[in-house]
Amino acid sequence: MEYVGDENGHYNFESTIGTVIALRKDKMFVEEVDNGEDCGILLDRTCFYAESGGQIYDEGFMEMEDNSDIEFKVNNVQVKGGYVLHIGKLSAPDGKLRVGDKLKLFIDESRRRPVMSNHTGTHVLNFALRKVLGEADQRGSLVAPDKLRFDFSAKGAMTTEQIKEAEEIANSVIEKRGKVYAKDTPLAQAKSIQGLRAVFDEVYPDPVRVLSIGIPVEDLVADPAGPGAIMTSVEFCGGTHLQNSGDIGKFVITTEEAIAKGIRRIVAITGEDAEKSSVLQEAVASLAKKIDDNQQTQTVSHKQLNKDVTDLGNDLNNATIPQWRKDNIRNSLKDLKKKLDEIDKARKAAIIQTAKDTANQMITDSPDKPLVIARFEALSISKALDAALKQYKSKSPKTAAMLFSIDEENSKILCLAQVPKEAIAKGLKANEWVKHVSG
Ligand SMILES: [Zn+2]
Repeated sequence: MEYVGDENGHYNFESTIGTVIALRKDKMFVEEVDNGEDCGILLDRTCFYAESGGQIYDEGFMEMEDNSDIEFKVNNVQVKGGYVLHIGKLSAPDGKLRVGDKLKLFIDESRRRPVMSNHTGTHVLNFALRKVLGEADQRGSLVAPDKLRFDFSAKGAMTTEQIKEAEEIANSVIEKRGKVYAKDTPLAQAKSIQGLRAVFDEVYPDPVRVLSIGIPVEDLVADPAGPGAIMTSVEFCGGTHLQNSGDIGKFVITTEEAIAKGIRRIVAITGEDAEKSSVLQEAVASLAKKIDDNQQTQTVSHKQLNKDVTDLGNDLNNATIPQWRKDNIRNSLKDLKKKLDEIDKARKAAIIQTAKDTANQMITDSPDKPLVIARFEALSISKALDAALKQYKSKSPKTAAMLFSIDEENSKILCLAQVPKEAIAKGLKANEWVKHVSG
């Protein structure tokens, strides 16, 4: 199928007209299909990509050339017995679809475009992995609109450094904006290209389509022992690709994990999704650092950090990135919130302990004072003042104590008092005392 990309990475997909050569319904070939029926259509030509080589099928629709009321929604496209079968549902309120009819074909371009980014991105990743790991043989891949998945052989997990390096190499290939070349080449000739990446055990057609980023296939074929296929990505591939690696935009590896013994799986995203995700991911990482640093410096309030977590959560909710990616980032954010709560809990416990210790020290220094009015550094944690008062009650029962604390950040003053029985008899009541002071 013909499509052309401009310098901004926008692609124009030409629509094609195909003639129905066969209709398949309920596993049988039929001459016609009625309104609302599910069926499969074989055409003499198509611009729809049938699922293969890890790349997902196209979706879209077809309409009758001379009657746009007759429309066929394409939900799936598969190769069956060497033919491309378009699977979907017919909508023809006043008509039928018959063998011989001509259909105008439209693929869902907003879905196909990111698939192309992710497919070219898969090749770029394959190349980057070889640079980082030496040999890493492809064991499978899946190219979808919202992500790409790449399985490869490896002795163990990649380190964080290696993942970062692979991502950097991939992004540098993208930034170089290499033209993407594709050419059908005799299999024997193509196989002689040193460094070309192929899937182990896979049977390839002859001629085979060679896909190269940045170096024309002719040049590789002319010098098969040269370094071309080591310096760039060269693979056998029948998929639909971008015309320029730069159109991928940004490339982000989101996970790297084991799926079987000796086989690892990388999931990555490209383009705008990658851009937005990486901005959010970086924001989460820098907030994590801020929280860590703050444990030493104590320059940012707990309230502010909590607000930062909430704000980032809102940004995440509003971001248009794949849901699974959102969930991943949301989990990191949840961990951050949990950590913040733990820090706060520990901080409060420490303040309570200090208040208790301070009261004890005051009692030891001047026991049985009739009246104590003291400021404690307890913010607005009433449990801290309460703990301090309890010390007076049990260890200095004759003291009338009023303890207060100032929470500047929240503009609050906390005041607690306790009055021994003897003083109450003389007319001093704790609640009235506090009221009087705070009044
Ligand atoms: Zn491919």
